[in-house]
Amino acid sequence: MDKEAALLANEPILKVAINAPLRTLFDYLPPKAGGALLPGMRVRVPFGRTRQVGLLVALAPASDVPSVRLRRVEEILDLQPLLGAEDMDLLLWAARYYAHPVGEVFATAIPTLARQGRRLGERRVARAAAAASPADAERLAGRAPRQAAILRQLLAAPLDLETADDEFGPGWRGPFRRLEAQGLVEITLAPADSEGDVPGPDTGGPTLTPSQAAAVENIIGAPGPGPVLLFGVTGSGKTEVYLRAIESVLAEGRQALVLVPEIGLTPQTVRRFRRRFGCRIAVLHSGLTEKVRLEAWMDARSGRARIVIGTRSAVFTPMPDCGLIAVDEEHDPSFKQQEGFRYSARDIAVVRAHRSGIPVVLGSATPSLESMRNADAGRYRRVDLAERAGSAARPVVRVVDLRVTPAREGLTTPLLQAMQRHLDGDGQVILFLNRRGYATALFCSECGWVAECPRCDARMTVHQHPAGLRCHHCNRSEQPPSTCRQCGAGLRPVGQGTERIEAVLAAQFPDLTVGRLDRDTAKTRESLTALLEDMRQGRTRILVGTQMLTKGHDFPDVTLVGVLNCDQGLFGTDFRSDERLAQTILQVSGRAGRRERRGEVILQTSYPQHRLLSHLVSGGYADFTREALDERAAAGWPPFSHLAMLRAEATGRGEPMGFLQRCRDLAEGGRRTCVSILGPAPAPMERRSGRYRAQLLFRSTARPDLHALLNDLLPAVESLKESRRVRWSLDVDPVELF
Ligand code: ADP
Ligand code: ZN
Ligand code: ZN
Repeated sequence: MDKEAALLANEPILKVAINAPLRTLFDYLPPKAGGALLPGMRVRVPFGRTRQVGLLVALAPASDVPSVRLRRVEEILDLQPLLGAEDMDLLLWAARYYAHPVGEVFATAIPTLARQGRRLGERRVARAAAAASPADAERLAGRAPRQAAILRQLLAAPLDLETADDEFGPGWRGPFRRLEAQGLVEITLAPADSEGDVPGPDTGGPTLTPSQAAAVENIIGAPGPGPVLLFGVTGSGKTEVYLRAIESVLAEGRQALVLVPEIGLTPQTVRRFRRRFGCRIAVLHSGLTEKVRLEAWMDARSGRARIVIGTRSAVFTPMPDCGLIAVDEEHDPSFKQQEGFRYSARDIAVVRAHRSGIPVVLGSATPSLESMRNADAGRYRRVDLAERAGSAARPVVRVVDLRVTPAREGLTTPLLQAMQRHLDGDGQVILFLNRRGYATALFCSECGWVAECPRCDARMTVHQHPAGLRCHHCNRSEQPPSTCRQCGAGLRPVGQGTERIEAVLAAQFPDLTVGRLDRDTAKTRESLTALLEDMRQGRTRILVGTQMLTKGHDFPDVTLVGVLNCDQGLFGTDFRSDERLAQTILQVSGRAGRRERRGEVILQTSYPQHRLLSHLVSGGYADFTREALDERAAAGWPPFSHLAMLRAEATGRGEPMGFLQRCRDLAEGGRRTCVSILGPAPAPMERRSGRYRAQLLFRSTARPDLHALLNDLLPAVESLKESRRVRWSLDVDPVELF
């Protein structure tokens, strides 16, 4: 062993996660100088020809990399770990489970500014060590005058390192390090001064109903841990249950984490929590500036914030003493990230709670079939809130048969009459239509030509504000042709979008304010907030909108909800279409009659006999799920099997299919398992944004088999030369099959 190697042998190897699309941790040597090294600290490292900030994940006795090729960490950026051991174990678990590059997984969990190496809301304070005395300074004075000066100053008072340049003069680091090596000085962390956050008193809530009380008892006083599925119709007081459970967790001095769907996190939600609790609350969502996000995150991590409310990625928020996790609207697809690291925040919440031994409650009026199944199988404890809280009763549901009563411009006479009745009675009206824009297509009635997107297998949508044709899949916009490109005849906008309904309503009810809630009107959080506020205050009398309407908004005076077209989605290609449609219809219906006045729901459909609709009208969601689960079981779809999807896309048509066929061959060449492979097949919309897309589906009833196959397969896929000619991704537990 040469001398260098002997030296290295005594040094630990640092395993570092770096934000790069690679499945490994990277090995480094410790920095030449520096303090304690603990997993969870950020380190600055040389990486290829660049420098990166990585996260120290573990220390190991040895490396597989030859020692001459190991490089050193340049700097340790934290004096205390940024992430705790539990946080890191969870991330490592997630990287394995989703078979995703570990550095990108860690990057998801850490705010951008922290990843860029920003010093975090902590001051580094230099102070004299307890053992140091003025005698040490005297002893050093002759031989090392600068060391002596620094030590004297620190013996007098500790110093914020930020001001060290001014106080000690430039070039102080060398002498300081030598003092550190002699054990005479040290650097400690002090919390940055947080603005005084005077906690207000907690205000009490209403007296719980017996079923609410039982739910709270199940969550926090349960005989053992394990998720609670809180199945409660909209307005049944689920939020009140979370609040009570949180209250008792806070009383024990612990923190609570609340996850909500992206659009469910409105100022109204946050206000409700703030009004109830006097403590500091950290709010985390995608609309924050990086600076604000970092502050909120640091508040959670330091424990200053007692409650964290956030969307998807908040599930990774480090919290020193989290005692409860609540996931509201657990069925919401926005909990699943659809690009990059495709994780399910709902599922990770369950795993996090399990690993930390704390309660978790999943709440919904329309739980996912996965969660219903977990409850049936005894893995979750299901608690039902069957009735609305307070005085509100369930809305009356009516079906209008479009074959008998055709709609004009999307609205039938019975619906218009009901609207008039509710508006006259001072109620507000919500109309749901899952299509934004003015018309769904621009159509030539002479030859049947339709304006299509040149880059997608899709029609262009007609918009009026701003006017033009737009593709909802690639965002392309263009001026509409004035005449048919094929025969020169005139063109007609066909089909209804929310813009068109809004215009029709404005003409029909000229004295009332009609609002519209969709991605076009709610482009920013501010515009969304303004729209919701107008509705809550009653300025808007009729609100027409898309899916965005369904997300748990509480509009007290809405008494009528109309679903303009239930048939979109009745015959979808995805095995989840039924579930999604049932959830959407029930969620939007749930906006009706949340107070004293009885609500009414009108469903317009051409298929009034469809079993899905009749279930929803008569028996409700539980009946629907029983039948839907039987169908899933018969067809072998989740939750009775587990899926993983490999997707690929490229500008050439054959490449994605060719690549996925190679992947299939590799998978079949591997060891025999009970995983069936479906495809490759072109995606339901094969061309999108000018790229051809295809998919390969893995399905298994045994999760370990599926994961074993993926773990073997991915490295082989990465080394395929075809993999460099396509863009590909893996989606474990996909929620959409295209
Ligand atoms: P969900 O989250 O299930 O939609 P909420 O918790 O928002 O239901 O409750 C719906 C409404 O009923 C709210 O206005 C809430 O203040 C009220 N509420 C909830 N629980 C009770 C209760 N036990 N007594 C009286 N009112 C209640
Ligand atoms: Zn034509
Ligand atoms: Zn397009």
